[in-house]
Amino acid sequence: MAKIINPDQEKIKDANRRKIFRLLKTKRELSKQEISRLSKISITTVTANINRLIEEGLAEEAGVADSTGGRKPMIIRFLPDSRYSFGVDFASNHLTKSNKIKVILINLDAKIVDERNFDYDMFSSVSEIMKYISEIKDEILEGKGINPNVVLGMGISLPGPVNEKEKILEVAPNLSKSLGMENVDFKQHESLFPFPLFVENEANAAAYGELVFGVAKHKHNLVYLSVNRGIGAGLIVRGHVYKGNNRRAGEVGHMTVASKGIRCTCGRKDCWEIYAATGALIRNFNRRSEEKINDTKQFLEKLKQGNKVAGETWKEYLDYLTIGINNIILGFDPHYIVIGGEICEFDSFLLEPLKELVFEKNTFYGKEDLQILLSYFKEDASLIGAALLPFQELFYGNNKII
Ligand SMILES: [Zn+2]
Repeated sequence: MAKIINPDQEKIKDANRRKIFRLLKTKRELSKQEISRLSKISITTVTANINRLIEEGLAEEAGVADSTGGRKPMIIRFLPDSRYSFGVDFASNHLTKSNKIKVILINLDAKIVDERNFDYDMFSSVSEIMKYISEIKDEILEGKGINPNVVLGMGISLPGPVNEKEKILEVAPNLSKSLGMENVDFKQHESLFPFPLFVENEANAAAYGELVFGVAKHKHNLVYLSVNRGIGAGLIVRGHVYKGNNRRAGEVGHMTVASKGIRCTCGRKDCWEIYAATGALIRNFNRRSEEKINDTKQFLEKLKQGNKVAGETWKEYLDYLTIGINNIILGFDPHYIVIGGEICEFDSFLLEPLKELVFEKNTFYGKEDLQILLSYFKEDASLIGAALLPFQELFYGNNKII
């Protein structure tokens, strides 16, 4: 007779296994007795799960511990290099104006093992880019002597609304039009890889990374604000990334914040990102100054040198950034606002002045009601967040993004 499996029991089993694995990852080395005590899971269940983790190569026995008497307990050690994952960022959130795609390989500790970047201007289609990424993947794995079987997947961060189930990028107005970044189906490129592809919107990927590894680890209600060439938000509600009914929540870069009539890439006028994405700094500086700059790095230099035009441009920029953040706070009432992306490079010019502006006297909230922080992974937040997506099943059972 076939064994009847109760689905609820299976769920509990999986939850126990993940809890034990997460605990071992945090503490690095523990005896089964310690795991049982800390996780409040019976020693029999802990032993069965540890045996399975050892069998799968995720943990190992690492000698016996000192003991005050009786049998000495065996120490179990977490193995961070037992699985890997690739991360790819299409978001071009780099300080120069060139269109770069970055590829990284990380281990279970989110440590970058190897990385490459290349200009996507040299390609005319997403298919060509994916083929090239597949070659990079082979080069990295061969170079590091890593078996593709221990790579759990490749997470891709994309600057627009993404249907992660269908693996489709719906639209990306900030990426090169020549690539045809509309309804891009990444499923059709999966055959180039011996592991699954995961796709996610850049702000959601970054929010996920901050939630499981970065500043948001113990913070359960927050808005992650990605400020690059465009602006997007990842919403974390009770420890989950919330994507909304049509998976388009957090497209805050297209909130209307002015009435100047400036056209946005989305087709509407006066969207927040026209005034507060990093491109605004270059445009507004060049409009005011005889001397022209090409990228945000040059702008930052001018600001550091005390250039008057750069100072005025920055002041105006912060005012617009504040307008959007105020709207977000009023709309979401988060515990934290985490600012990430290219704008993090402006660190000392950014955080304190921004706090002053955001908490200027108002009826609705004050400094004690929420905190504004800079991202832990800074301009790499989307990239690392994307690379962490293939580990989600192993650690959390795919329920962190809702
Ligand atoms: Zn817009």
